[in-house]
Order: sequence, then structure tokens, then C-alpha cells
Amino acid sequence: MKFIETRGNDGVFAKEVTFSEAILSPIASFGGIYIPETLPDLDEAFLSKHLNGNYKTMARDLLARFEVDIDQEIIDQALELFDHFDDPKNPVPVIKVKEDLYVSELYHGPTRAFKDMALQPFGVVLSAIAKKRRENYLILVATSGDTGPAALETFKNKEGVKVACMYPSGGTSDVQRLQMVTEDAENLKVIGIKGNFDDAQQALKSLLGSPSFKTKLQEKNILLSAANSVNFGRIIFQIMYHIHSYLELVRQGAIELGEKVYLNVPSGNFGNVLGAYYAYKMGLPVEKLVVSSNENNVLTQLITRGKYDIRDKELILTTSPAMDILKSSNVERVLYDLYGTERTKELMADLDNELNYQLNESELAQLQEIFVADYCDGEQGKAYIKESFADGYLMDPHTATCFKSYKSCMDKPLKMIVYSTAEWTKFSPTIASALTGEEDSNDLPALNAIAETANIDIPPMIKELFDKEVAQKSVIEKEDIEAEILKFI
Ligand SMILES: *Cc1c(COP(=O)(O)O)cnc(C)c1O
Repeated sequence: MKFIETRGNDGVFAKEVTFSEAILSPIASFGGIYIPETLPDLDEAFLSKHLNGNYKTMARDLLARFEVDIDQEIIDQALELFDHFDDPKNPVPVIKVKEDLYVSELYHGPTRAFKDMALQPFGVVLSAIAKKRRENYLILVATSGDTGPAALETFKNKEGVKVACMYPSGGTSDVQRLQMVTEDAENLKVIGIKGNFDDAQQALKSLLGSPSFKTKLQEKNILLSAANSVNFGRIIFQIMYHIHSYLELVRQGAIELGEKVYLNVPSGNFGNVLGAYYAYKMGLPVEKLVVSSNENNVLTQLITRGKYDIRDKELILTTSPAMDILKSSNVERVLYDLYGTERTKELMADLDNELNYQLNESELAQLQEIFVADYCDGEQGKAYIKESFADGYLMDPHTATCFKSYKSCMDKPLKMIVYSTAEWTKFSPTIASALTGEEDSNDLPALNAIAETANIDIPPMIKELFDKEVAQKSVIEKEDIEAEILKFI
């Protein structure tokens, strides 16, 4: 399958690229990104065929239909990583929480957040491509807390790949920071930045666009890439669990094959819900895609009013930090899909230059045919965490945002699947405060308080973190990032 560009072609970039090329250099003409030229068809035969199958065989079949230019052996190796999730037979458990509400848990991988769903297999695929081409890559990662640990975990000790991961010092939870700074593999460099996530992201963007940095890397025979969430190599692995979750509802007898469901996704950069959108476009029976946000409610505004406006918006730091974002990158792929190249180029230029764009009435109607949205603030989120715990289900603050839209966005008596994107261990201070009313910003007392209140164990990979040696000690000014990375390679 070929990949084409969201904003059209400038005559310099190739007009179409392969899957591996789109992975290695994810940015296209005019600052656009890559999308598949067509999507495979998921007919009912595909769904019924995999009804009695497992996650891996369905995923393998799906990737085959995308005709990706990756050797089968590598794909199998990548998918085998799901065997190391909590339950190898079912890496993504789907739990019934209410009569019409099911939660699909995407956090049972090594770093306890949904980023593992795509980054685990992505690491194998990217390093295999590098090896096959006999090339060496430096992968830059900027993280607010979940992507960093997942990227380090997947790339550690991989051939042909080095990773430089930047996080805002003081801006992550203890668990997230420890997951990064205790990684001691030689091909990994973790850099704390005196600044916020935007500073880290800005540093990444300026390095990616810097010719002199590229030249210095080339002298050492190293190419530059990024593992951010616009990379289609990640998106493709975020389609399969939506299909899996649907099939789980059929398996559990909650729905008949073919019956429509609501998919409700806690959203930031829009990668997770984009995977759901593609699954729907390919034929998964979906009534509506529910986009849940926190106080940074740009997506709610877009979907309810057709307006993307960040002129007067400042990023709000919330209790669901992985969704603290103003420019949500993967929306562009939906714009392309609904309105085509020219309009996408125009809208994205408006957003880049004027910090806003406005859809017209018919465009908004098209968007609303499939998307609905709502947002939930921190206090409401905590109330949902408490209420849900009393009903027997423990969840994290990102997942909690979906419990508001569960009430506000369902207008038909169908079933809803909410996606849970992080385990309670990753955002424990907020959860502990919701459950016990006591405030403590440190993770360890919060983890212990939740474990005791809920009568559960802290998983070993989280508990161990507090005894591990800190291997990565750099905390630097943002001006010094380039020099620090050059020293590392
Ligand atoms: C990354 C992340 C999200 C947001 O996912 P997007 O694909 O960026 O929309 C939500 N919750 C958690 C816990 C995350 O780590």
C-alpha cells in the first residue's frame, strides 16, 4: 500500500512513499503528514473469522490487508510482544462496568499506559527497517510522561537505534520519571529539561528541522527520526484493539455481530481515536466516536462548533496531563479524509499562521455524522473516580473523563466501549485524593494508600522502580540540549 500526503505535494518530497519510508521520515510536503492512499475493507466475514481467534492473529490479518512492506517474520516478532502483557492470551481485557458500559483496558503492557499498545511493536519494526537498510538512527522523543517510558522500553538495546528522550523536569509523576531515569541501556539518553512539556516539544521540533544538527549527525553516519504520535507506524497498531474490543463485546454476549456501538476515547493528540475512526471507515459497526477531553477542550469545541481556535487559549495543567494539548496533530488526518487535500492544506495553514480555523456548516455536519464530544474537569473527574470505585471499578483520571461523556453523549440505547489509557499506578496522587480525600503529591504514599483502600497489589514493575538506581542524571537548560545529545552520540 502507498502512503500519500495530507497537504498535497510540493515537488520536492516524493508524491507517494512506502510504509517504511513514512515511518522513517513522518513529515511530508508543506508540513503535512502521511495517510494510506486507501483503506482495506473489513467486511463482516473478517469480523466473524476472528470472532474465535485471538489478538495476534487478527492483528496479523489486518496488517496483511494494509500490505505493509515489512517482512512477515518481523511482523510476527513485533506482535509476539503482546505475549508479555499481563495475560498473553488476552492483552486487552474488556471489562463490563455497567449494563451498557464496557471498559477496554489498554494499559497491561510493560509501562502501564496505552502508549505500549503501539510503541511495543513499533520498536521492533523500526529497528528492523534500520537494520535492513544498514542505517543508524537517532530517535528523538519529547514526552509529558507516558510516551517517554514506552519509547525507552521498546528501543532499549535495539540495533541501529539510539534514543534521546526529553522530559520536563518536575513536570511528570514520580513513577513516570523513575521509569525513564532508571533505564540504563547504552543506546538510551534521558534528558530532564528545566521547562515545561512545550519547551521539550519545541526543542524536538527545532532539532528535527535543523540542517546543522543533521550535518553533525551525518558526520557520524546517523540519520534522524522521531517516534511521535503522528508517525503512521504507531497509528496502524492503534486500529487493531478497537476491532478486538468490538469482538470482545460479541464474545461476551453483550452485542450481536453487526450491532453498532459507541467508542469513547480519552483524547489528546487524537492518535487513539484516529485508530477508531479508521476502524469505523473500514467497516467496524460504530454508532458514534466519542471524543473525551479535559479542561483543554479544543477538541470539544471543534466537534461541537466547527471551530479550532487557540488564539486566547493557554495550556492548562490538569490532573489528566497526557491530554494537556492545544495543537492536536492527528486531527489533520480526519480533515484530509473528510474534506480532501486542498482544504486540509488551507485549514492547517490557518491554524499554523492565525492560530484558528472555522469549518463551514456542511463540513461541520460531516464531522458530526461520526464524532461527538464533551470535556470533563478535574473535580468532576475525581468524583467519577470515587463513584466508579464505589461501584467496583478503579480507574485513572484520563479514563474518568469518558464517564462524563458516557452520560452526555449517548442518545441511543446501545453499548459503549470506553478506552482506559493508564493504570491507577501512573497517576496515583490524583486517584488517592479522590478515594481518601487526602492530598499528597508524592507517588509512593499514594500508591500505598490506593493499594490498601482497594485491597490490591502494586504491580512489581512499578514497585521495583523505587529501589532501582538512577542511571540518567542529566537535568539541563533547554539551550544546552543539542550539545548534550551530540555528547551522547
Ligand atoms: C497519550 C495518552 C492519551 C491521549 O492519547 P492520544 O492518542 O494522544 O489522543 C490519553 N491518556 C493517556 C494515559 C495517554 O498516555
